[in-house]
Amino acid sequence: MTTHENITFAELGLSLQMLASLEKKGFEKPSAIQEQVIPLLLNWDKNVIGQAATGTGKTAAFGIPLLETLLHESHPQALIMVPTRELAIQVAEEINSLQADLKNKLSIVSIYGGQSYDIQLRALKKWVDIVVGTPWRIIDHLHRKTLKLQEISYMILDEADEMLNMGFVDDIEEIFKQTNEDKKVLLFSATMPKVILNVAKKYMGDYQLVSVQTTQMTTTQTTQIYFEVRESDKFEALCRIIDIESDFYWIVFCKTKLDCDFVTTKLNERGYQAQGLHGDVQQKQRERILKSFKDRKVKILVATDVAARGIDVNDISHVINYSLPQDTESYVHRVGRTGRAGKTGKAITFVTPQEYRKIVLIQKVTKTDIQKGSIPSTDEIMQARRLKLKADIDSVLAGQKYQQYSEVANYLLENFTPEAVVAALLKLNYQDGLTPDSFKQINEVSIDTTGTSRLFIALGRKGGYTPRSLVDFIQTEAGVSPRDIDDVRVMEDFSFVTVPFADAEVILHVFAKQNKGGRSLVSKAKDKTPQLRAGRDSDGGSRGGYSSRGGRDGRWDRSFWASRAWGSQRSFSGGNRSDDRGFRREDKASSYGRGENAKRGQGRRR
Ligand code: AMP
Repeated sequence: MTTHENITFAELGLSLQMLASLEKKGFEKPSAIQEQVIPLLLNWDKNVIGQAATGTGKTAAFGIPLLETLLHESHPQALIMVPTRELAIQVAEEINSLQADLKNKLSIVSIYGGQSYDIQLRALKKWVDIVVGTPWRIIDHLHRKTLKLQEISYMILDEADEMLNMGFVDDIEEIFKQTNEDKKVLLFSATMPKVILNVAKKYMGDYQLVSVQTTQMTTTQTTQIYFEVRESDKFEALCRIIDIESDFYWIVFCKTKLDCDFVTTKLNERGYQAQGLHGDVQQKQRERILKSFKDRKVKILVATDVAARGIDVNDISHVINYSLPQDTESYVHRVGRTGRAGKTGKAITFVTPQEYRKIVLIQKVTKTDIQKGSIPSTDEIMQARRLKLKADIDSVLAGQKYQQYSEVANYLLENFTPEAVVAALLKLNYQDGLTPDSFKQINEVSIDTTGTSRLFIALGRKGGYTPRSLVDFIQTEAGVSPRDIDDVRVMEDFSFVTVPFADAEVILHVFAKQNKGGRSLVSKAKDKTPQLRAGRDSDGGSRGGYSSRGGRDGRWDRSFWASRAWGSQRSFSGGNRSDDRGFRREDKASSYGRGENAKRGQGRRR
């Protein structure tokens, strides 16, 4: 999270009680969004649109002013709308935790699909100051007349792009209609598509736009590493990594529920305490699991993306991508779980040889450096285990709580050498944990990352393209440097270019949703594509160098890319999330933005 170097919470004009609460919470300085939004709400009474993603401290940015300005009343005074039940719980908890030291505490209730009405009705019947809810459940309560929003001071839309993306636009409008006119409206969203600004125009009147850069938010404090590993060796690799890291508080991400169950069961069998969290886990059980994870009774949480969204746990030391995420954005979300609030963290990703291209694409799109790591060897594990063993015994000795064993100890020492006794006890306790032969072998995988790809582009001379303008087009849309674009061949209706395969992945990704005459705008060229000999086109397009790059790399032909499962890099596309009703939303990769850009790009050229 970006925090400002100089401004303090006190300088934002917060009360002493609030300052004490924030200190207790461990917040030292306001984050960038807090620094901007808090004064607007406290001093200027403004409607605010904040462009900020999760991880920027946006919840406290609106939560602190609510707590500072609202008084306990007999009707709800603030409504916070969120897209998912996880976020509803998280936002309510976060705001609640900010009032630890306030004398007059506000009552905060979360209402969401999947939770029994009884609990919510009981909560709503009491005095409620702040309601945090998902749109459908809010509407439900409005219809049942168990919730009244005619006297609210604040209406807050959190993760507005996600809500609209999940199809809640009509519901949000209905909720707006059932509220009083003179409320203040705050809208937070990671992206700002037009449809959001339309909602704002319709319901917000004057507003102040606040934006913070978030792309660097979560990954800067996190070391990112990937390991090349076969699918069948992943579990063994995971255990070795857990062994080698001294302090751990982990989330292990899996693609499917089955994987999640498999990894959880196997980890427990091996003696690592782990809990699994996925869409089939009942709400009650889920809350129990999260509590034991938050309390650090369980230090490894194995989760799917859906289940992990909205989990707000600080100090995660490691994120392990046991399976690669569905899209680049999910990768950023997953990795963003560690390295928060100034802490350092490690994100480790397992990559099978078939998946190598995905990690290349993630690096390109997120502009991060993901270092290649090597799986710890058995020698390294043994060394780590020995050190841990010594440390464990040291701490038992220091605690001096072993007197009940003194009699047995004396008997053993009278009859055997001290070394034999200690070694036998260790064997009894650790079995074969320090025997190299007990480790399953992990086969080295080495992925060759060199090579180029030849791409077919459905744009040609008829559309006014020359080699130069085609290279320019690719550079503008996909950010590929002209130096890396070789063998440009522009024909009447289509063209060919050769690029390093990492760039090819980016180009294919950027143009994935665009068609021309029923055919993808850009696709992998068939093997026999026209190539020119070395030399330069008259109008400056590059023609040479294909042969020097060694031609197209056929090894990757049947890669994942054929399936085009990779979603948009925009956060607008989102991953799967459990929605309002507790259902899961299918991943709807949106072409928003990409399409816009590309259209703009083409327009300029014609
Ligand atoms: P959010 O973007 O609201 O989801 O917040 C992300 C995380 O940052 C939460 O765990 C907050 O408790 C934490 N956080 C929010 N503001 C601050 C701050 N000023 N200093 C340190 N941590 C913060």
